[in-house]
Amino acid sequence: MQVTVGSATDVGRVRSGNEDAFLAELPVLAVADGMGGHAAGEVASGLTVAALSELVGRSDLAVEDVVRQLGRANANILASAREHPEQEGMGTTVAGVALLGGTGGELRWAVFNVGDSRVYEHDGSGLTQVTVDHSLVQELVEAGVLSAEQAARHPSRNVVTRSLGREPMVDVSVATLPCRPGQRLVVCSDGLSDELTPAALDTVLRSAPGAEEAATALVQAALEAGGHDNVTVLVIDVTD
Ligand code: CA
Repeated sequence: MQVTVGSATDVGRVRSGNEDAFLAELPVLAVADGMGGHAAGEVASGLTVAALSELVGRSDLAVEDVVRQLGRANANILASAREHPEQEGMGTTVAGVALLGGTGGELRWAVFNVGDSRVYEHDGSGLTQVTVDHSLVQELVEAGVLSAEQAARHPSRNVVTRSLGREPMVDVSVATLPCRPGQRLVVCSDGLSDELTPAALDTVLRSAPGAEEAATALVQAALEAGGHDNVTVLVIDVTD
């Protein structure tokens, strides 16, 4: 099997700086969406990508490795904020996939997230959101208070209930997913998922055959829809 990765990021049409960061080197493909004043969000997302990049090149990756590096990223963000008062309160969300080391059996992805950055899977039958957001509106959806459509338009839709840089212990959501030919995964910051409905994402993904082309087309579509936030997209294609 072959894994092809396309990536694109843009500051958007409203923000002055891009506080998103991404890692697109196997076995770890991740997007971090930083927040905090005085460009501190950029520091938080950068520290997260730096911690995950320590896994680059590994062929024996386990779920625990990913969780441990995100714990280190969390500790590094907190430590940096203690040393630099202007970084106080900085944090980041993160989402991604990591190809796990197999022992002869099927290859699997670890799919992980903290906050509302997302992983989607796209195949012949359409688009599925693989990660579950750690957000206020997601909790309200699960409680039956809001529909998914209402949540997507809700004024508090950007309030996250988990992030890196908030507490000494970080609770990472991890699941595993088979890695199989024909699979296309999308990892993104909310600058994509806030601008485009799942149906719009599906349409763009169907019309872009290559991973790089698809990532660029998704960012372009988010900009055309308003570009209210930084937008970062990884598209991962698995082929025979
Ligand atoms: Ca964002």
